[in-house]
Amino acid sequence: MSDFDPGRGFGVYVHWPYCARICPYCDFNVYAAKARDTAPLFDALLRDLEGWRGRTGEREVSSIFFGGGTPSLMSGAQVVQLIAHVRSLWHVAPGVEITLEANPDDLARFGEFAEAGVDRLSLGIQSLDDERLKFLGRTHSAGDALKALDEARGKFRSISIDMIYAVPGQTLEDWRGELSRALALGADHLSLYELSIEPGAAFAFAVKRKAWAPASDDEAAALYEATQEMSEAAGLPAYEISNHARGAEHRSVHNGIYWKCGDWAGVGPGAHGRLTIGATRWAVEAAEKPGAYLHHVKTNGIGWSVVDELDAVGQARERVAMGLRVVEGFAVADVEALRLKLNAENVAMLVALGFVAERDGRVMLTPEGRLRADRIAAEIAP
Ligand code: SF4
Repeated sequence: MSDFDPGRGFGVYVHWPYCARICPYCDFNVYAAKARDTAPLFDALLRDLEGWRGRTGEREVSSIFFGGGTPSLMSGAQVVQLIAHVRSLWHVAPGVEITLEANPDDLARFGEFAEAGVDRLSLGIQSLDDERLKFLGRTHSAGDALKALDEARGKFRSISIDMIYAVPGQTLEDWRGELSRALALGADHLSLYELSIEPGAAFAFAVKRKAWAPASDDEAAALYEATQEMSEAAGLPAYEISNHARGAEHRSVHNGIYWKCGDWAGVGPGAHGRLTIGATRWAVEAAEKPGAYLHHVKTNGIGWSVVDELDAVGQARERVAMGLRVVEGFAVADVEALRLKLNAENVAMLVALGFVAERDGRVMLTPEGRLRADRIAAEIAP
């Protein structure tokens, strides 16, 4: 049915859009959980998966990812059923990676998730400082985060923790101290994000009314550099702009599918997906609001509300932008096969400036270049 290159990987992404409380920095497609009945959404996820199976044909699934929102609000039984449904629809690779993003507050269900087959837990710790956690609007304390990590240990093959830096008032020394404590926790993977002020998030309004100022570019760059240097020294070098792993076996297979421009079925409100059939690649998006999503699934048997065809040059630009995120970069031949000619003059200039390197037919960013990834992608793949 499809000429899809299985080497790029095929994954399943399940978006659970509810959170106990909406964090003021968040611009994801999320809704307050309240005491709502989630059965209709759960049922729609199952139908949506079936709709995707009808379009992909047989594929081998190398990753299943429960993201959100807060998928750790799901019950263990719901996770069991979703994984079983994926297994009934596609061939699931032996050693498949099954990730679930968890809030430390939900530690009581970690055992159920592990029994359901989740082998990678991504724990949203965000900070090890109670004041900063409060500022970030999180419901857990640093102590709760450590308890959750203890609970997760030994239950999952791989544990990742998320941390946020460049929080207003946080000095370089503060972050160094916090990061060194985070690195000492022994997690297999760290996702380290700069606090970004997203339009539409509550923090954007706070900045607009001058309640506080975000970190300057120079401050953020100094924090980023310290992050790279300390993670590398602790044996968790960056393999992507914000992601660090203790060895290749702990890199995220799922995000690897995005960075290699593989395909994935994305189900749930607002979930994005990619589907390659023959020479055609589609970028699709499910309806955002849960009510509209239920309606789309009921009416069309799939959640899609936006379906865009990516032409060859659009695909090539995506390969450049995604490939530049990872340390291996992208293969020039791959991009040229899609009829995109790189701007050789700009590549040479960026190499001379020390932002880009070329090796074995691949182009990658240097650590200095990683801070400017988006701008560089636009310069070399116009
Ligand atoms: S818990 Fe995560 S997804 Fe939910 S509102 Fe907070 S940052 Fe956003």
